[in-house]
Formats: sequence, structure tokens, C-alpha cells
Amino acid sequence: MAERVQKTDEEWRKELSPEQYRVLRERATEAPWTGAYNVEKRDGMYRCAGCGTELFSSDAKFDSGSGWPSFFQPADAAAVEVEHDNSMFMRRTEVHCANCGGHLGHVFEDGPNPTGLRYCINSCALDLAPTAEK
Ligand code: FE
Repeated sequence: MAERVQKTDEEWRKELSPEQYRVLRERATEAPWTGAYNVEKRDGMYRCAGCGTELFSSDAKFDSGSGWPSFFQPADAAAVEVEHDNSMFMRRTEVHCANCGGHLGHVFEDGPNPTGLRYCINSCALDLAPTAEK
């Protein structure tokens, strides 16, 4: 894995949209059903909106009905890291980009086969690079 991206708060504020900043750097959650990728069906690779690291393949995307784009596994196990999150009076597992530390969403254990995991990710934390049409 490449060295972690280290940027100052000021640099992040300049590079990210206000909503991306709130999610990636302040761990906010976008409102359900509002994100650009919730119903996205195109094939491609979802990259980190903060640093461009490949995080989730469309092959692992499924319709969870939650209102957020959901994946059953990351593109590479080393691309994301998890952390226990007891905020909001809930016991959840937070997911962030291993390269830049940007908050992505949470992972729950009620996903489909083959992993049984549901990575519930904020659309604005992602940037889809669609596979070129054949
Ligand atoms: Fe990142």
C-alpha cells in the first residue's frame, strides 16, 4: 500500500466539496436516497473521492434498499480499514479509506453471500470510473 496521503485541513477544504468534506473528514452521513450512486448501475470502479484509491468494484455492488450504495466487499482488502464507532448511541463499525483516512461509511453483518457483509457507503465519498463501453 502506498504511503498514507497527509493533507492539512485547509488543503482538504479546498479540494473537496462542502458535502464531501463533511463526510470524508468529519464523518457525516449524507441523507439516504440522495446520493449520486445509490441507484447507479454502470460497471466500473468506485474510487475514493479524497485520494483516488480504488475502493469498490461495481461487481460487488448490490441493492440493499437502504438508500446508500452498498457493496459486499472492497476491491482490495487493504484498501479500507475499519474502526469501532459508538457514536449516535449505536454500536457500528466505521469504514475509512486506508490511504487518506477519509470516512466512507459503515459496515454491517447483514449483507448477501458470499461475505455476509454490507458496506454502506456515502455516494459523495466515491468517484465512479465507469468501464469503457465496448
Ligand atoms: Fe482515500
